[in-house]
Amino acid sequence: MIVKCRELAKNIYLVKFQSKKQLAKTFLRFQEHFESPKFRKKVFKLSEFKEWYVKNSPAGIRTGKFTYYKDWGGFNIPSKVLEPFYRGKFNPLTREEKILLGLFKSFRRKNFYIIAIHDKSGKHTLQHEIAHGLFYTNPRYKKAVIGILKKCDKNSREEINKFLLNRGGYHPDVWMDETHTHIMTDMSYLKRHGVNTKKLSGINKELNNVFKRYFKR
Ligand SMILES: [Zn+2]
Repeated sequence: MIVKCRELAKNIYLVKFQSKKQLAKTFLRFQEHFESPKFRKKVFKLSEFKEWYVKNSPAGIRTGKFTYYKDWGGFNIPSKVLEPFYRGKFNPLTREEKILLGLFKSFRRKNFYIIAIHDKSGKHTLQHEIAHGLFYTNPRYKKAVIGILKKCDKNSREEINKFLLNRGGYHPDVWMDETHTHIMTDMSYLKRHGVNTKKLSGINKELNNVFKRYFKR
């Protein structure tokens, strides 16, 4: 099921799946325990999440169906998110969850970051996820990013916050991090969702330059 797992940069591990559905099925509870506006830091069942997601995600509201496995193509979590799963708080675990936990069992208690994509994820998705990894593991990168975001105009920040609020997947605790990755790699996506991206092109360039400076393969 998992294609490969490797350390992509210091303390950032990339897990690559063959299919988008396998990827999203594996990561759902880990990701949502980390950053869901509703379930962050909570223990929950898949059925509870499904019920909430259909009522609160854009495609769920539109279709009445559970569209999560189609909605998300990249995932990112700090390693500490795995801990309550190792401790049995989320039992019963699914087969997919057990596989992921097994993959990182030998570095339990170490502090690192996991990003995940699938075979057909584009290079922007990969960069988006690596940027989350850098933001978490490299304090100098994070400081540089925050310095750039401070220059962002207020209206654009508000439009992005509104977009993140309505997406059904982001707790306010991660908005700063998501704002940086979205401006860096997802400008056309932001534009389609009502953000005036014209004012953001300078910030986009600066963020990409910082990324290049800190991410060396
Ligand atoms: Zn993201």
